[in-house]
Amino acid sequence: MQNRSKVLKIIDNHNFRVKKFYGQNFLTDSFIITKIAEIACLDKNTTVLEIGPGTGALTEELLKRSKKVIAYEIDNEVIPILKENTDNYSNLEIINEDILKADLSRLKDEDNLVTVANLPYYITSPIIDLFLNKMPNIKRAIYMVQKEVADRLSASEGTKDYNSFSILVQYYATCKKQLFVSRKSFVPEPNVDSVVIELEKYDRTFKPKNETLFKRVVESSFKERRKTLINNLSNSFKIPKDTLKDVLCNLGIKEDARGETLTIDDYIHLTDIMEEML
Ligand code: SAM
Repeated sequence: MQNRSKVLKIIDNHNFRVKKFYGQNFLTDSFIITKIAEIACLDKNTTVLEIGPGTGALTEELLKRSKKVIAYEIDNEVIPILKENTDNYSNLEIINEDILKADLSRLKDEDNLVTVANLPYYITSPIIDLFLNKMPNIKRAIYMVQKEVADRLSASEGTKDYNSFSILVQYYATCKKQLFVSRKSFVPEPNVDSVVIELEKYDRTFKPKNETLFKRVVESSFKERRKTLINNLSNSFKIPKDTLKDVLCNLGIKEDARGETLTIDDYIHLTDIMEEML
C-alpha cells in the first residue's frame, strides 16, 4: 500500500518529474484507497477499466479484489514505476495510450466490467462523456472528481449547482456522491478537494423525439444564467418571445422561469414541442 512517504520516495528514486499537464496528483491515503475499492463492489468475476493508474496506488487494491484490471495510462515515464509496484500481480494489462483516443471496442468481449479512476481533472467531462456514450457494456463508473463537479453532477433542479451538465449526465445515469476526499490525500496537493462519485446508467423510457435538439435546448437554456428561459431560448433559436410564452404556459411552466427550475422531463416535453416549431 502506498502512503505519503512511500509515494514521495518512489518519485524521488525514479527521478520522476510529476506532470501537472497530465493532471498528476497521486493518492497517498490508504483509507481512501480501500474505500474506493469497496464502493466499486469488486469480486473475482469483475474486470476493471482503470483510467490513469499513475504509480499504481489504487491499481494494487483493484488487482487484489478483481479478476483483471485493464489500465490506460498516457504517461510512458510513469509506467516503469507502475510495473514495479504491481509486479506481484499477473492480472494487470497496461495500455500506454490516451484514453480519449483509444479504441474501446476491444472491451466489448469483456463481461462484468466496471470503470474506476482517480480522474485527471483536466479531462473530466470528456471521460464522463466517454463512459456515457462509448462504453455500452459498462454500467457503473466510480470516479474521483473535483468537489464542485460532483456537486453539479448530483444536483437537483432548483439548486444553485444544477446546470446543463447535471441534466445531460442525469439523462443517462444516476449520480451519487459517495466519499469526500481532502486535498491533503494527494501528492502533490491539488488546489481543490475531491469527491468520489458513483454513476450508474439506467434504461430511460421517456425520451425526446430528437436527442440532438434536446441537448441544444438544455445548453441554450443555461447560456446566460441570469436570463430567463424565454430570453435564452428566443436568442438561440430565433423564436418570438410570445410564442415561447404560450409554449411554457401549456407546459405549466412560469413565463419568468429560469433554466435551473425545470426537471429533465420538462426539458423533454419542451424539446418535443419546439421540434414541431423549428
Ligand atoms: N490513479 C493514480 C492515483 O490515484 O494515484 C493517478 C491519478 S492522477 C489524478 C491521473 C492519472 O491519469 C495520471 O497518472 C496521468 O498521467 C493519467 N492521465 C492523464 N491524462 C490521461 C489520458 N488522456 N489517458 C490516460 N491516462 C491519463
